[in-house]
Amino acid sequence: MKNKYDVIVVGAGPAGLSCAEVLAKGGKSVLVLEKNNEIGPKICAGGLTAKVEKENIISLQDTGKIFYSIKFHFSKICRKFAESEPIVATIDRGKLGKIMLEKTIKSGAEIKTGIKVKEINENSISVNGQEMKYSYLVGADGSNSIVRKFLGIKTEKLLTTLQYTIPQKIQEFEEMEYFFDSRIFNGYFWIFPHKDYTTIGSGYYPKFTHKNHFNFKSSFENWLSSRHIKTTGLQLEGFPINFDYQGYQFGNKFLIGDAGGFASGLTGEGIYFAIVSGKEVGKKIIDLQYNCPGISKILKIKKNHENLLSLVCFFNDLSPNLGFKIVSFLYNLPLFKKIISRIVS
Ligand SMILES: Cc1cc2nc3c(=O)[nH]c(=O)nc-3n(C[C@H](O)[C@H](O)[C@H](O)COP(=O)(O)OP(=O)(O)OC[C@H]3O[C@@H](n4cnc5c(N)ncnc54)[C@H](O)[C@@H]3O)c2cc1C
Repeated sequence: MKNKYDVIVVGAGPAGLSCAEVLAKGGKSVLVLEKNNEIGPKICAGGLTAKVEKENIISLQDTGKIFYSIKFHFSKICRKFAESEPIVATIDRGKLGKIMLEKTIKSGAEIKTGIKVKEINENSISVNGQEMKYSYLVGADGSNSIVRKFLGIKTEKLLTTLQYTIPQKIQEFEEMEYFFDSRIFNGYFWIFPHKDYTTIGSGYYPKFTHKNHFNFKSSFENWLSSRHIKTTGLQLEGFPINFDYQGYQFGNKFLIGDAGGFASGLTGEGIYFAIVSGKEVGKKIIDLQYNCPGISKILKIKKNHENLLSLVCFFNDLSPNLGFKIVSFLYNLPLFKKIISRIVS
């Protein structure tokens, strides 16, 4: 490691790797610091919407499993959203990390693993007693970002999640499914089949569930039992998803991906938003006049998602599942189906 870089990127998730690749290709000296020894694995359902392919980020053919339909269960009502083109795919996060790492290494960025950044200064960071100067610092260190904390930015909007990874030898699932029932909470359960395993999880935004005796873990376990899903001996995992976006540039410091709160508060989708924000900030550092149209685009998608979430929760609070019933009714009408598809995709 040198003692001065144009850019130091903290975190080698999808946001940090895509940003470093753009920067190194643009001629900047870049150091990426990752606390884990292995790049990629992360608690995640691994769903990639087709817009990832449209952005030329990754081909869906490189993923594990491709889906042409998704089932949405609104309490007892089920709606199947199907298209002739792939809608979504699932990918193992280890595999995604590997694909992205290869491209980033090829670009010339320097990547160091097993280094947890603990100390940030105005124009340098200290790692194991060595001081490294930067002209720009990029926080790509996820929902518990140390760079965000250094900048003094509070995080109030966090999705809480729980997830099991179920190997196929225990139980096999075919379809990608979402389940909503506001009598349980204003959140959702998901089933995302992969090639050799299935991620089954649940997520919600605590501010939208005002129940006195609500216990997230037992609600999730009860729901799994009601569907005869076996999890004995499997590890229950959870990690927050930050969707509290408060800006991406703070002088010579930037926040991208979950560190910047770019994920969707509605679906918890964050990989696409992380990659787009990473690439855009890379371009911005190369050319400070660049006005990041890609960031404006993802912020618009995110705003639509979160407005829909607020609206549905508002109606659910008037009467159990009313918001979900309205969405599922409107979804039957071709015009609204198009509008809703546009809002969530
Ligand atoms: C249960 C669950 C399910 C999800 N399912 C989906 C899904 O199906 N589809 C989807 O699109 N999104 C999903 N997400 C969200 C998705 O995982 C994130 O939005 C995405 O990983 C964000 O990428 P990132 O690069 O910003 O951050 P991360 O992927 O979190 O990467 C941050 C990196 O920074 C490193 N790091 C952190 N602190 C430091 C430090 N101090 N020093 C050095 N390195 C550090 C971490 O080790 C990590 O490698 C899910 C999230 C959860 C919790």
